Amino acid sequence: MAKDAATRRPQLDLLRTPGLGNILRWRWGRLVFQGPLLVLALLMVYDGLTGPRLAAENLATVLAWVHYRGLVILALLLVGNLFCMSCPFTLPRTVARRLSGRGRRWPRALAGKWLAIALLLFFFWLYEAADLWARPWLTAWVIVAYFAAAFVLEAAFAESPFCKYLCPLGSFNFVAATVSPFQIQARETSVCRTCVGKECVNGSPIVLGCGTELFVPQVRSNLDCVFCLDCARACPHDNVALAARPPLAELVAETWPRRWDISLLALVFAFASLGNAFGMVPPVYALELALARWLPFAGEGLILLLIFVTINLVLPVVLGVMAAVLSRRLAGSQTSLREAFARFTPAVAPLAFAIWFAHYGFHFATGALTAIPAFENFLATSGLAIHPHWTLSALAPTAWLLPLQILAVLAGLLASLYVAGERVRLDTTAARPLWAALPWVLLLAAIAVAAILIFTQPMEMRGTAGFSS
Ligand code: SF4
Ligand code: SF4
Repeated sequence: MAKDAATRRPQLDLLRTPGLGNILRWRWGRLVFQGPLLVLALLMVYDGLTGPRLAAENLATVLAWVHYRGLVILALLLVGNLFCMSCPFTLPRTVARRLSGRGRRWPRALAGKWLAIALLLFFFWLYEAADLWARPWLTAWVIVAYFAAAFVLEAAFAESPFCKYLCPLGSFNFVAATVSPFQIQARETSVCRTCVGKECVNGSPIVLGCGTELFVPQVRSNLDCVFCLDCARACPHDNVALAARPPLAELVAETWPRRWDISLLALVFAFASLGNAFGMVPPVYALELALARWLPFAGEGLILLLIFVTINLVLPVVLGVMAAVLSRRLAGSQTSLREAFARFTPAVAPLAFAIWFAHYGFHFATGALTAIPAFENFLATSGLAIHPHWTLSALAPTAWLLPLQILAVLAGLLASLYVAGERVRLDTTAARPLWAALPWVLLLAAIAVAAILIFTQPMEMRGTAGFSS
């Protein structure tokens, strides 16, 4: 299905829409999106370091932990990886790439998604253990560290290692974007076949080629694509499209990589959707207290680490491998364990996306308007006679949210079951192909039930004036 979509001329191409398409293809088009986010990031750092200490009143915490997460997941659902496209951290990176040119390669031993998985897990743990959501000052330093890391790594290495192999936000966006409706593709593959310079990946004297080294006619996935559109600007034949694709096309395609690291990243993305939400409901405090009684020497950080490593790493590894082993046996498949593992891990992506969407959507719906008083307060402390409207907070009545969350999870489960069903036919060695899906269907159902149980618990409304941090 994905192959067909990639070789057909796209029906809907965002790069060909009047106005927007012209901006996107313009040489400085990315700056139009990065500029405002850079200004916001600098404001967040300034307010985080010098502004109010209460999370709900500070731009750093409100914009990072309420707005960024809510808007990023909405953008991923409607279009694709728009945050990476507009990423302010990569602005100094562009200068850095000019410095590194086609310089030193990222070590092969560190290539792949293993470091990205480790940093993603570290980021989730840090968020809880250091109460990032409640600490504007620390949030500001995380932003500064991001700018520094992106610049240093891009200056030292070719191949955009920061985006491709390290960035936790990017890794999250890559997996989430596998369900997004748009993808980079060649408009006419025949044009690419006769193209001499392959500027989309090699670049030209004036425009950089693809930083993550994707070759447009071979792109079948949103994994590793930061939507920077450098390929479109570099292509001398105007042959790159940001094209609409059939729903879930990437996840049912045979081209999904049969790699341990990418499969594990997808599973970690799924289990972390539970772990992250679980960290904000009362049962986690009961569990922390129980663990503190059993392990009196352990501090809160270590106890949280135990809980997070168990939910976000041990469970995906153990349950994923068990599902793959059982799947192979039940189906009488001749494939390797790695292939059996990779066969069904794409099926978890829609459900995981739905859980993240339901969770981040909850915080956005309960706290979106807090940005207004936070901005008003910022202007007031700068000397303007403005009185912040501290009562502004929720975007929607809280009574609506649980039904909507459950609806989102069920929709995600249905989409995941569809993907699992489609992927059954990819194993041509299986004697009983339908049976291969059974362990994964059970795992998907268990994840969905766990998510609904978590959402029925009272959740902390972090970053809003209603929650005292
Ligand atoms: S530069 Fe353009 S025409 Fe050449 S291979 Fe890349 S996308 Fe195809
Ligand atoms: S294929 Fe490469 S250059 Fe094109 S948008 Fe994706 S990351 Fe950017």
